[in-house]
Amino acid sequence: MSIATILEQLKQKNPNEEEFHQTAEEVLFYFSPVLEKHKQYQQYKIVERMLEPDRVISFRVNWVDDAGEVQVNRGYRVQMNSALGPYKGGLRFSPTVSLGEFKFLAFEQTFKNALTGIPLGAGKGGADFDPRGKSDGEVMRFCQAFMQELYRHIGNRLDVPAGDKGVGAREIGFLFGTYKKLQNQYEGVLTGKGINWGGSLMRTEATGYGLVYFAQEMLRQAGEEVSGKRCIVSGSGNVSQYCIEKLIRLGAKVVTVSDSSGFIYDEKGIDEEKLAYIKELKNEKRGRIEEYARKFGAEYTPVHQGGDSDPLWNVKAELAFPCATQNEVQEKDVQNMKSNGVFLLAEGANMPLTAEATKLIEQSDILYGPGKAANAGGVAVSGIEMMQNYIGSYWSAEEVDSRLKKIMCDIHNQCLQTAEEWGFGKNYAAGANIAGFIRVADAMIAQGVI
Ligand code: NDP
Repeated sequence: MSIATILEQLKQKNPNEEEFHQTAEEVLFYFSPVLEKHKQYQQYKIVERMLEPDRVISFRVNWVDDAGEVQVNRGYRVQMNSALGPYKGGLRFSPTVSLGEFKFLAFEQTFKNALTGIPLGAGKGGADFDPRGKSDGEVMRFCQAFMQELYRHIGNRLDVPAGDKGVGAREIGFLFGTYKKLQNQYEGVLTGKGINWGGSLMRTEATGYGLVYFAQEMLRQAGEEVSGKRCIVSGSGNVSQYCIEKLIRLGAKVVTVSDSSGFIYDEKGIDEEKLAYIKELKNEKRGRIEEYARKFGAEYTPVHQGGDSDPLWNVKAELAFPCATQNEVQEKDVQNMKSNGVFLLAEGANMPLTAEATKLIEQSDILYGPGKAANAGGVAVSGIEMMQNYIGSYWSAEEVDSRLKKIMCDIHNQCLQTAEEWGFGKNYAAGANIAGFIRVADAMIAQGVI
């Protein structure tokens, strides 16, 4: 069956799942030469099977808020592919999530996890719960109610969720405590755990640091370096915070940071002291980024919904790191970045570029690091956390960081080598998708039609 027909059928079978269609279209675009050369991938219907999750779990989550009112939310877990190992991928708590969003994320995760070289399958899940504005007690009761159903579908050799948007250290703690109580077992069923109760050093930093290590390799190829570059970063959560930290430590100047209400522009640059303030503001006080502008005298621009561009991406810079959410960068933003001197964009978030923006950036001379390669550091260190839990031992921060660096460097090289091998020049997206696909496809064929 042709790629066009597979995509047509996907849309018919999964109506109203636009983000899933978008990612499938972007990924499958690169597979034609691979399917042409390796007929067994067509014979075993590998692409069709990869697009159909192994299992989709959807469930009701009841809990009681501080006012005594009963709340009803919906939880999900998409167990996408287990050819390479236990299902692995984060949990996202956000009021706008949908099944299509989780399928898109789990599909991306399939290729990302394969690229790390660690034996990990792919999954993704979460709930339409908004942790913003909730008390710690409400978040705890929600997490407990969510795990009361999820626990029967996960396990340390079956499915090992982690955090994602809206799920940080606090939520992982509540989820782990509930799992342990229900199963009466202390096992590494989640990653991102606290370091004194089963977590790995460097897991918190891993996605942001890994993103910068990946960008460093891209720059090295181009005869450039991070030091001295002006950078624009979106978001102010886990990925952004550690992306900014590593950029600062490597001598770059970061001038923007944002949240879902707006962004700040700090011409003087964010230094370690200002970053410590951002971490406290977002992780402890759970405040708004606007408060940074008041404290440090930076410019604040509130978000405008529905426009064709975001002024954050119109700030003069050389390197860009979208680290907030999907489809946050539009076609016009890529045009603005190009006019303003951006020559590298590496994705911290999953699918932060719209389909049109992705097409444009791939045609431009901007170096483009796709999320499934550039943000794989988080799942890589999650894999490293699982290894430590299996053997019951812990590695130093230096050990984990050097493994992370090596994995990001290997992913970078795989992307370039695979792209060149298949005639896509230096297209990192082509290399990432094809390299990940071949690894999963070969395992699926070896394991039979199941
Ligand atoms: P967090 O919840 O820690 O932070 C998300 C940040 O993005 C917050 O600053 C949030 O603002 C902002 N944001 C959320 N929605 C929007 C929106 N619609 N418009 C503008 N800003 C928004 O999440 P993470 O940092 O963990 O994840 C960010 C991205 O990185 C996601 O795409 C995630 O899938 C991806 N990712 C995360 C990994 C990880 O290890 N955490 C691994 C790989 C990818 P506010 O404070 O207002 O909510």
